[in-house]
Amino acid sequence: MSLLVVGSVAFDALQTPFGSTDRTLGGAATYFSLAASLMAPVRLVGVVGDDFSAADEATFRGRKIDLDGLERAPGKSFFWSGRYSDDLRTRQTLTTELNVFATFEPKLPAAYQDSQYVFLGNIDPVLQRHVLAQMRRRPKLVALDTMNYWISGSSEELAKTLRMIDALLINDEEASQLGGEHNILRAVKRIMSMGPSAVIIKRGEYGAMLFQGDTIAAVPAYPLEKVYDPTGAGDSFAGGFMGYLASQRKSSHEFMRKAMVYGSVLGSFAVEKLGVERLRTLKRRDVERRARDLVKMTHIRL
Ligand code: AMP
Repeated sequence: MSLLVVGSVAFDALQTPFGSTDRTLGGAATYFSLAASLMAPVRLVGVVGDDFSAADEATFRGRKIDLDGLERAPGKSFFWSGRYSDDLRTRQTLTTELNVFATFEPKLPAAYQDSQYVFLGNIDPVLQRHVLAQMRRRPKLVALDTMNYWISGSSEELAKTLRMIDALLINDEEASQLGGEHNILRAVKRIMSMGPSAVIIKRGEYGAMLFQGDTIAAVPAYPLEKVYDPTGAGDSFAGGFMGYLASQRKSSHEFMRKAMVYGSVLGSFAVEKLGVERLRTLKRRDVERRARDLVKMTHIRL
């Protein structure tokens, strides 16, 4: 079933305690697409500059990722650099160069306008609405990611966008900021009153929680002996979550719970190597194996 993503396709410079790179393919939509396309075909909307090479394109072409919506603009692609602390718990952004992203206006090819599953990656909330305005019919599920920059800088525009979506994927700190409450349950209730009927809180190494109506589901992070590079874990979680729902053609609570497992599994693979390296070689059978292991770990009968 059709899954559309809009977001950044970038080059990243990464410094982790285990290794670094001056330039590697990154961006939220990149991580999302590589993760989601293991489960369902993905349509990507974004922009790259003339530094985006045939080899970069090949990373996507090796998967079921449609690039008709990936615009080429003169200039450089979005560039981001970040450095992690020794315990990987904090990250410092060193550079954000918007480049071609600064004037980006997402345009949906006609064939994308009937997409049933839509993921609005972390971009300006005005542009997120601009994507929805181009849909020919109401998608089955619209999910959104955002960050502190938009929560504090564009709160009114973000509020308008939140009224139009079904699910919000966000980390715990950002949820507290958006909901205006330190307590996560109270923050989630406030967020739900703003529009989304489902809120997914990503808590890094502590797993993730799904809130929907009065129901809560929690999934742990898959325990790893070595985390190499946490970049893109959240976007890969979103890719696993949405990719699973699109593959099942479902959006009910029961399936969202199952999708949480796939989100957690894809997030765990993404952090095992530098940049998108691990996702590049990942196979569906690896995902299924880890999903079964994760379910076994959490299945406790009383
Ligand atoms: P995450 O680790 O989930 O926050 O995602 C990291 C990815 O997001 C990197 O590959 C960056 O290229 C991309 N990124 C960083 N900052 C931004 C931003 N302001 N807007 C869009 N994408 C970004």
